[in-house]
Amino acid sequence: MSFIVAIDGPAGSGKGTITKLVAEKLGFITIDTGAMYRCVTLSALKNNVAPTDEMNLKQILNNIKIEMKKVDGNQKVYLNGEDVTKQIRTTEINKNVSAYSAIPYVRAKITPLQRKMGESQNVIMEGRDIGTVVFPNADVKIFLDASDEEIAKRRYKQNLERGMDVTYEQVLEDIKRRNELDSHREIAPLKKAEDAVYIDSSNLTIDEVVEKVIGIIEVRKTKKQI
Ligand code: C5P
Repeated sequence: MSFIVAIDGPAGSGKGTITKLVAEKLGFITIDTGAMYRCVTLSALKNNVAPTDEMNLKQILNNIKIEMKKVDGNQKVYLNGEDVTKQIRTTEINKNVSAYSAIPYVRAKITPLQRKMGESQNVIMEGRDIGTVVFPNADVKIFLDASDEEIAKRRYKQNLERGMDVTYEQVLEDIKRRNELDSHREIAPLKKAEDAVYIDSSNLTIDEVVEKVIGIIEVRKTKKQI
């Protein structure tokens, strides 16, 4: 029997960091669903396939192979056998990913893959539509939020650490634009599931959020008798 934790929220709300830490403490597998949409986007851009080019985009989706593996303790993403862990995090991908992820047939391909990954193991899956669409019956649903300014501050710091040359204003603009697009698309928009627990992380430390999430999971696990 699997136990599924869904963590949804806007770009930069801290989902990735929190998911990793909670999973390490509880021994769960993590699945970063955004990485899958980033892979589709990378593949499309590499092949000069625009979001409107349905025929060629479908061809890409038919042949796409996305794998997530832990190598020497680091989570890696492979696209058709190639390690693209870094390539999927560029400004170029950030700019384009929302246009590809809003396409219904892209989601129709990716959503079942995510459901398959969540079968028969204890997982924390993070994204935008996990609690609403991918796993509406997840055991625990969290909606992690933060203010645009706090998000941009965190992302800017992260970018500096990664050696990326982007200004704070550019980061803020990118985040706002992407969250706006993700929240207002027609299919599987970013929104809190009715039964999700809302956590605003703007004024909380990482440890405080981790503690809260683990507390919620523990209560549910006891109820489910795991
Ligand atoms: O989580 P991350 O910021 O890496 O996600 C990249 C993009 O992938 C999001 O901006 C969104 O457009 C898309 N996405 C999605 N559904 C998910 C996860 C991500 O549409 N479950």
